[in-house]
Amino acid sequence: MGENCGMQIESGASLKPYNSFGLPAVARTLVRVASDSDVRRVVDHPELGTAPKFVLGGGSNIILTRDMPQVVLKVEVRGMRLVQERDDAWIVEAGAGENWHEFVAFTLARGWPGLENLALIPGTVGAAPVQNIGAYGLELKDRFESLDAVDLVTGRTVTLHADICAFGYRDSVFKHSLSNRTVITRVRFRLPKAWQPVLGYLELERKMAETGNHAPSAQQVFDWVCAIRRAKLPDPLVIGNAGSFFKNPVVTIEQCRDIIGRDPEIVHYPMPDGSIKLAAGWMIDACGWKGKSVGQAGVYEKQALVLVNRGGAIGSEVMLLAQAIQESVYGRFGIRLETEPLVV
Ligand SMILES: Cc1cc2nc3c(=O)[nH]c(=O)nc-3n(C[C@H](O)[C@H](O)[C@H](O)COP(=O)(O)OP(=O)(O)OC[C@H]3O[C@@H](n4cnc5c(N)ncnc54)[C@H](O)[C@@H]3O)c2cc1C
Repeated sequence: MGENCGMQIESGASLKPYNSFGLPAVARTLVRVASDSDVRRVVDHPELGTAPKFVLGGGSNIILTRDMPQVVLKVEVRGMRLVQERDDAWIVEAGAGENWHEFVAFTLARGWPGLENLALIPGTVGAAPVQNIGAYGLELKDRFESLDAVDLVTGRTVTLHADICAFGYRDSVFKHSLSNRTVITRVRFRLPKAWQPVLGYLELERKMAETGNHAPSAQQVFDWVCAIRRAKLPDPLVIGNAGSFFKNPVVTIEQCRDIIGRDPEIVHYPMPDGSIKLAAGWMIDACGWKGKSVGQAGVYEKQALVLVNRGGAIGSEVMLLAQAIQESVYGRFGIRLETEPLVV
């Protein structure tokens, strides 16, 4: 371990504790960054400055298949605060290294609702805009105000609004031209005072029917979302995983009609733009993958969209399993599933 103006540089750091799948890999160099000036110190450093970088949050959306020659920047910027109260909204800011779920709980406890549908998504606040996290009918972009990011070439902090971020379904500019080019250090959210619960999602409708509560508070929605997620998703602290392993494919209505003609039961959701989202988990299950394994990498018994570490799995086993699933889904439905986590 070396020091440079207070900056901690670790050599040969194990990344196993820093990825939720629990995959083994070693970073040649790992630097923890807790502020914009920490990032600038890396940019100005004689060796690290020009080396390729990899920005790491909580490691819950990455699949490590090899050791990392890049300089891994582990983002640990802290702090959560109200930055502005407007007539129509609270603007709340969090450091990129804060735990996402704790931030959601913090906003609710302060009486600023709006993020409750996104409860219990693992990872950090800073990674949330990268794939425009979404769940239960809400996406980050619906509550996004702006973010601060440090450019890894110039060392300058810039403030970016939604137009530059180019949010899409599990997508943003940070997965493309700005990938490992910037470190997001703070994110601000616009939480509307005229709050309305977002309840269009089937499992939330079921909760309303079961409880007879058709006008739930934000806290109630938060509790329902946590209960639904705990019942069907494995806790990464117990069973290593990276959440949904594949994106739900989006197809045209003609393609969908064709597939329904052959498989009338396929689970699908109409999208506002007229396209159709197909349930990837349903297709994987239909191909008989639930509970199957390759080495120590397996398909979760309760949800075929989630691949899990049955203990001591390595990245290549996970990718072999993923490829076998992709091939059988393609063979049966003619659809190529794309991986959702970043394969490193
Ligand atoms: C059990 C489980 C359930 C999940 N459920 C959902 C869900 O419902 N919806 C959903 O959208 N996702 C879900 N995920 C995926 C994951 O939680 C999110 O993608 C989360 O935002 C990843 O955060 P992280 O800090 O772990 O990011 P990491 O895995 O560390 O990084 C992910 C990507 O973001 C980049 N990145 C990370 N931090 C920064 C930063 N500060 N600046 C710039 N780039 C950065 C990385 O380089 C990488 O490309 C789930 C994962 C698990 C394990």
